[in-house]
Amino acid sequence: MDVNRGMMVILGGGESGVGAALLARAKGYTVFLSDRSLLQESYRQVLEQAEIPFEEGQHTEERILQATEVVKSPGIPEKAPIIQKLRQQNIPIISEIELAARYTNARLIGITGSNGKTTTTLLTYHLLKTAGLNVGLAGNIGDSFARQVLEHSFDYYVLELSSFQLDDMNQARMNVAILLNITPDHLDRYEYRFQNYVNSKFRILQNMRPDDTFIYYQESAVIREELDRKKPDVRLLPVSLIDTPQPGAYLKDGFLVVNDFEIPLADLPLKGKHNAINMLAATLAAQVVGVQPDVLRAGLLTFRNAAHRLEPVGEIRGVQFINDSKATNVDSVYYALESMTSPVIWIAGGLDKGNEYDQLAGLVKEKVKALICLGKDNQKLVRYFSDRVPTLFETQDVNEAVAKGLELASPGDTVLLSPACASFDLFRNYEDRGNQFKEAVKRMMS
Ligand code: ADP
Repeated sequence: MDVNRGMMVILGGGESGVGAALLARAKGYTVFLSDRSLLQESYRQVLEQAEIPFEEGQHTEERILQATEVVKSPGIPEKAPIIQKLRQQNIPIISEIELAARYTNARLIGITGSNGKTTTTLLTYHLLKTAGLNVGLAGNIGDSFARQVLEHSFDYYVLELSSFQLDDMNQARMNVAILLNITPDHLDRYEYRFQNYVNSKFRILQNMRPDDTFIYYQESAVIREELDRKKPDVRLLPVSLIDTPQPGAYLKDGFLVVNDFEIPLADLPLKGKHNAINMLAATLAAQVVGVQPDVLRAGLLTFRNAAHRLEPVGEIRGVQFINDSKATNVDSVYYALESMTSPVIWIAGGLDKGNEYDQLAGLVKEKVKALICLGKDNQKLVRYFSDRVPTLFETQDVNEAVAKGLELASPGDTVLLSPACASFDLFRNYEDRGNQFKEAVKRMMS
């Protein structure tokens, strides 16, 4: 063990907190972990085994305020009293990403955006892995970055970065960054000011150098304007669906074109315009680190996305069922509806996050035959859509939603769960909502 570097307090004992505790300990810090809730048994065991002191169900201020530095889990809001106290005392607060980045020389590929992070991160990782590179996958996904830095020595990391992780990232430098889009989300954590959220996303750029590469979606006015203002000294590579930037990544005559590489869109397993953006960005990032065209082709063709993202569930009497439970905001539903090629019975609802539905009005008029509201409080959806859809039905039961969907659909139609809302009113999380939907469909199939 190195010399004692001081006291590192870890706030939050989930995957990232426990990873940070292990890494900080290995690097010579005295470590104390504190979680206001109870820890999962598996994490408790890891800490006990490593003999790292911790507390749960409370934050003991006297102890926490002795820290030389604090690692804050992304779930803890800035306005939490303990964070305010730490700020008052000028005790530095960092994210687990920042900590882990200090201890690796790997090249970092960071991916952020309001939507599409997971898909693009998994695809970029898959492309690098297919190329045989020694690459890790971390961030807002799977095992924590810190734990992996401790246990592996990867040459590359593909990191999914949420705005909460970026908020406390100060010195970490991305060699390649992807910014997919910035649309309203999580505003409750940003004083309801969109610009604060935009600033948070742009932190991904903050330490990049002239030979680093920043990949962004050109049709996002928010991103373009911010880049105009910032004029960052990095290599800027746009991705576009309507333009043909040179050099760059775009669509042309049904082909995905990324510099000298091209592949017919129709051959690719990821469907929809939003996924075209994600594929262009991931392919470009892989190209930047040297992945060759034959590998890009193989990787794109063999990619399978994570569950709950426009995931086909099955067919009953000619009616397709699609699980898009991860669509927890309005913009992601826009792209889901956009990608539908048949009439849609749309299941939406849950906890409202301050949603504005104007963006969906045109697509709903064009494609949606019926809206099934699946939430405890459907007022906002009902108020906005009752005059805009031919049929509207309300329920709090996922089985009834699926049965009603089938009843209202004709052969060739699609029943799409794409909620535009958080899931916590009726479900544990979006995975639970998606799984219950899938089970309900499977039961009706059998
Ligand atoms: P995230 O990790 O950012 O939440 P995911 O890849 O998990 O993103 O996708 C979440 C939802 O957002 C999916 O339901 C999908 O339909 C939608 N989506 C995916 N990519 C994009 C994109 N580039 N732009 C807008 N919506 C997208």
